[in-house]
Amino acid sequence: MLLHAFVPVSRANGPGLRAVVYFQGCSLQCPGCWNPSSHKFRGIEVTVPEVAQRFEEARQFGSLEGATFSGGEPMQQAEALLELMGQFRTTVAEAGREIQQVLRTAMGELVRNRTRCLSR
Ligand code: SF4
Repeated sequence: MLLHAFVPVSRANGPGLRAVVYFQGCSLQCPGCWNPSSHKFRGIEVTVPEVAQRFEEARQFGSLEGATFSGGEPMQQAEALLELMGQFRTTVAEAGREIQQVLRTAMGELVRNRTRCLSR
């Protein structure tokens, strides 16, 4: 896929803490387009697993709540977009499992007890 840019954490591109993938390439020519530098179908060629790895790295910054796919026009690289959405779900699901594992430890018990105290 052609990548314009990747922002690991953003609060300005949708609700919550999000990773942002800017696809490179768009032929739609909307009047007043805010990102004309993303129009050419030339740029950084990356594989979907390479971008997915960046999701994983972004997750280290904090708990990612979502991903925004922007551009360029992501739908003009629909196969890569679909695959990337699946990879993102996997990354977030793994993070969820890690949280569940932590909650099963002694530290998790401490957190649960503290939470119960605070909620009374
Ligand atoms: S990058 Fe977005 S706003 Fe710009 S021409 Fe393409 S679809 Fe339209």
